[in-house]
Amino acid sequence: LFAGPVDFVKGVVAMPGLPPADRLEVCFAGRSNVGKSSLINALTGRKSLARASNTPGRTQEINYFALGDQRYMVDLPGYGYAEAPLAIVQKWQALLKSYLSGRQTLRRAFVLIDTRHGVKAVDEEILQLLDRSAVTFQAVLTKADKVSRAERDAIIDQVRSALSKHPAAYPELVVTSSEKGDGIETLRAIIATLE
Ligand code: GDP
Repeated sequence: LFAGPVDFVKGVVAMPGLPPADRLEVCFAGRSNVGKSSLINALTGRKSLARASNTPGRTQEINYFALGDQRYMVDLPGYGYAEAPLAIVQKWQALLKSYLSGRQTLRRAFVLIDTRHGVKAVDEEILQLLDRSAVTFQAVLTKADKVSRAERDAIIDQVRSALSKHPAAYPELVVTSSEKGDGIETLRAIIATLE
């Protein structure tokens, strides 16, 4: 699946702009700077397909990428900007809610968690929204190369314990490093085999 073409389809700012729901899709969510763009680029083997959107004004689009005609990968705006204006945050939350509860072909949400930080309060908000929307989500630890094995294991325990409180959580998490390539094949296989 990932050996074929990967294309940027469009950036969507409102529900009517979503592409036709004609194939399965997965989405990626995470705090800004969690390593989401790097992960999408590592998965697709394209250096700058997904761009780090580090300016609050540029974060509101839901970006669609197509893996051939088989799957969509959906890049949700990063959340948790301290200085994002309230109006932007509210608009984004409304779009996110409609997307998560209204997209029939969405099979799984990958929630990215920085291996140095674990699950934070701002992550909990999205996990609760995923519960309410009944979207199965899977935690993906990012930047695993940045911590020692002991630190990583401690964070894995913290994340597992946080996930255990969420009915929509998929029990297995994936540990990744976009820099080193760890976990990338595993994640590709998960995306390719979802039904
Ligand atoms: P985004 O805002 O979630 O899209 O985050 P980016 O992908 O732009 O990554 C944020 C920062 O973390 C950048 O400086 C990346 O180079 C760095 N980064 C991302 N993934 C990794 C990783 O696996 N290992 C390391 N060491 N750094 C990473």
